[in-house]
Amino acid sequence: MKLKLIAALLAATMAPPALADVLIDNVEGLTIDENGKVLRFTGIVVDDQGKVAKVLQRGDKKPQTDYREDGKGRVMIPGLIDAHAHVMGVGIAALTLDLSDTNSLAEALEKIRKFAAENEARPWILGRGWNQEKWGLGRFPTAAELDSAVADRPVYLERVDGHAGWANTMAMKAAGITTATKNPDGGRVERLAGSQAPSGVFVDNATRLMETAIPAPRPNERDLAFAEAQKVLHRLGITAAADMGTSIEDWQAYRRAGDNGSLTLRIMAYAGGPQNMELIAGSRPTPWLYDDKLRMNGIKLYMDGALGSRGAWLKQPYSDDPKNTGLPLTAPAQLRNILVRAAQGNFQPAIHAIGDAANAEALNAIGEIAESFPGDRRWRIEHAQIVDPADLPKFAKDGIIASMQPVHQTSDRLMAEARLGPNRLDGAYAWNTILQLGGKLAFGSDAPVESADPFAGMAAASTRMDADGQPFGGWRPQDRVTREQALAGFTSDAAYAGFAEGRFGRLLPGERADFVLVDRDPLLATPADLRATKVLETWVGGRKVYDAD
Ligand SMILES: [Zn+2]
Repeated sequence: MKLKLIAALLAATMAPPALADVLIDNVEGLTIDENGKVLRFTGIVVDDQGKVAKVLQRGDKKPQTDYREDGKGRVMIPGLIDAHAHVMGVGIAALTLDLSDTNSLAEALEKIRKFAAENEARPWILGRGWNQEKWGLGRFPTAAELDSAVADRPVYLERVDGHAGWANTMAMKAAGITTATKNPDGGRVERLAGSQAPSGVFVDNATRLMETAIPAPRPNERDLAFAEAQKVLHRLGITAAADMGTSIEDWQAYRRAGDNGSLTLRIMAYAGGPQNMELIAGSRPTPWLYDDKLRMNGIKLYMDGALGSRGAWLKQPYSDDPKNTGLPLTAPAQLRNILVRAAQGNFQPAIHAIGDAANAEALNAIGEIAESFPGDRRWRIEHAQIVDPADLPKFAKDGIIASMQPVHQTSDRLMAEARLGPNRLDGAYAWNTILQLGGKLAFGSDAPVESADPFAGMAAASTRMDADGQPFGGWRPQDRVTREQALAGFTSDAAYAGFAEGRFGRLLPGERADFVLVDRDPLLATPADLRATKVLETWVGGRKVYDAD
């Protein structure tokens, strides 16, 4: 009697149990198949391992399963994969001051003042997302300006691209910054006009001078941030992400989540530099842990900075700064040394390269080393934003994956034109050209630098127009990709780029049942409609991890 009651209660209160065969039918399903083509289906059977056991077509006999879930005619797509995100950064950004919506310095200062007042217990005020370009400031902001908002506590705010930071006077004091502070290799301490006095902005490697002074988040703060990141990403339909620049502390937070059963995001980790790689994984990539939820795949390296702060390394000087070609952040010998060490251990390198000189150097170094380390290496170049057209064929030649962020193109368009002038854009954000030359793409967002919304990413990828439909017809529209390629970039191709094909990224038998129920068909929606896609439910391994209701 008692047992019966408990069973009845469980049946009434539990979400559809994942540890039994479940049929989810009456859906308008679609996935990329083994041949890279779109496969449409009406239902799936999820087995007790949380894997897809069967994909049902119209007219197929309904299989016998323990449970059935009615999809109510909704659209089912594979769980979306972000091929380049900073997972912990997404969580920390969600918990700290966000200036990305500010349109002027005055507006930003007001927001900083308010945030500091609301968070009196925080010893440091930290945040990100400022952009002097968007503010129409025409220069970097200064410490004195920041002091006018908060002077009694240290404040340090990362620029929107993460390649510069803005400190107030207290923060610089805490970091021991004085007029005697020199520019580090690969970095620049901005100075007040006509003096050696630091102005408050630190570019590229100089940001480390400040970052070392900031108290590191405690493990419980990291756990909080990670839980927040998973929520943010699942809400957007994201079930997996390549985590770029994983630190040992990040990894430990992911492991704690895995150990206590709260890890719901699949993470393909790329260690932040050789030291983190060794600390996390030793001499080889880790195995897939927690039912394909976590693996240390490789190492993230920085070839250069970003275009916004003119830290991207160019072959010719900036059009809007004729003495500056940007900075290489890794010396040639060091780059080759790290690539060889990674290849010896079967670690997958992911090289951040934005400018054409950085891309040329990364492509050439990989080309040299690939000769000694043949096989399926899947070298990755992250961003690959500005590539000399002469270098574009090198992606295909050595099987190098271009891991690109479609939304960067729409938000960087005007800035890229200013930085490069009109004649150096042929290899800019050249998605389709890379594909046509036989190269491989994977798509991501670079969150929290940009919103992680993959539907905005797919819309940008297939139109080269921004959320306002600008420019009409698309910017350099020859480099659009098809909607199917855009979907593949955020699912199957992103999985391939992380050695995860066959595990997740498609709704095919044997793969993890990661899927999203949405309110429209992404392959049929107009670009504006696609951006407005509503995620109704997100499932990972046959378990619901997000429900809009
Ligand atoms: Zn990034």
